[in-house]
Amino acid sequence: MFLSLNMSRLSNGKLDLVLSTKTEESENPSEIRKDYRSGYLVVISRLRSKQYISSITTEEYKNNSTAFDKSLDLESRLAKCAFEPGKEDLNKEVVRVGSPWEIRVIENKFPSLSKNANVSRWRGENGLFELIGGHGYNEVVIDSPNHEELLEGMNTNQLTQWLDMLIDREEELYKRDNVKYVQIYRNYGIKAGASIEHPHTQVMAWPILAGTVAKEVKSSKRYLKKHSTCLYEDALKKEVENGRILTENSTFIAVAPFASRFAGESMILPKRHLSYLGGTEKGERKDLVEILKSVLKTNKELFGDISYNFSFHDYKYNPDLHMHLEIYPRILNLAGVELGQNIFVNTMSPEDYAKEFRAKQECSKR
Ligand SMILES: [Zn+2]
Ligand SMILES: [Zn+2]
Repeated sequence: MFLSLNMSRLSNGKLDLVLSTKTEESENPSEIRKDYRSGYLVVISRLRSKQYISSITTEEYKNNSTAFDKSLDLESRLAKCAFEPGKEDLNKEVVRVGSPWEIRVIENKFPSLSKNANVSRWRGENGLFELIGGHGYNEVVIDSPNHEELLEGMNTNQLTQWLDMLIDREEELYKRDNVKYVQIYRNYGIKAGASIEHPHTQVMAWPILAGTVAKEVKSSKRYLKKHSTCLYEDALKKEVENGRILTENSTFIAVAPFASRFAGESMILPKRHLSYLGGTEKGERKDLVEILKSVLKTNKELFGDISYNFSFHDYKYNPDLHMHLEIYPRILNLAGVELGQNIFVNTMSPEDYAKEFRAKQECSKR
């Protein structure tokens, strides 16, 4: 990057400072930059157009009236929804299941990473301005043709079909050149960053393994070396002993992790050691969707129709990680401590959450 400072005298005698920057990367549609202060990775995306920013900063959007206002009747919300059957031309389709379709995968119209970004190694100036091309893929899985059909309301067959599709896309994206990591996640509700109400899940293929999953792989490897056991399996025993279990079935278990960052945070993990979603067997997939449905349903009974995110933490290329699904209810906004320090304040202990969760499930059974 070249930085030049041009100073010139204006006619009124004031000094005019013009900071002009020229970046080698200026033509790159997406980059992943490393912050020299904190080591954070940041995706700088030039693909998310000005139109996108302005569309989400309007009063209308802020007041939830475009995408999510339940006070609008269903008909008006469907009229505005780009994921409705009949509007297939609005998005570039990747694949669909069923005729008429039951699940449809499309390319994300506002991607963060780009297949057109350059493929590069980390580079930078004296370890200061390190960056790598934001090469990758962003797909959206439309969970159902029905605008109001949520995961917790679907039957097991629909849900396994949905999970199979996610796993197919993950497998397919891992096969592409320069893809090092594939993330499956979901944003539900405006506080979770969703811009479309229609139920959908996302699959994102990254050019590097970074962020939390990279850290988890590292800690798993370190723990295994020291104790010859799996970090997650040892931790799970304690989570259960200390009353942080939520629910379980024959192959999966859900707990409220010891250091949950969010009120009502949960983690779902297989009872046997598996590092990659693609390694699950048919029966395990059924158990996984059933436990996910059970957690989402009980969360809704406890907290109402709140926004949430979830993210699968699984990885194809290292067997040490014990795969899991993390669910983050987004009841409170992130505030100064979280953003300024990256330290989370959680006002509901995981022990209290687990206790309330189990009581709620017990009383729904009756
Ligand atoms: Zn819709
Ligand atoms: Zn394990």
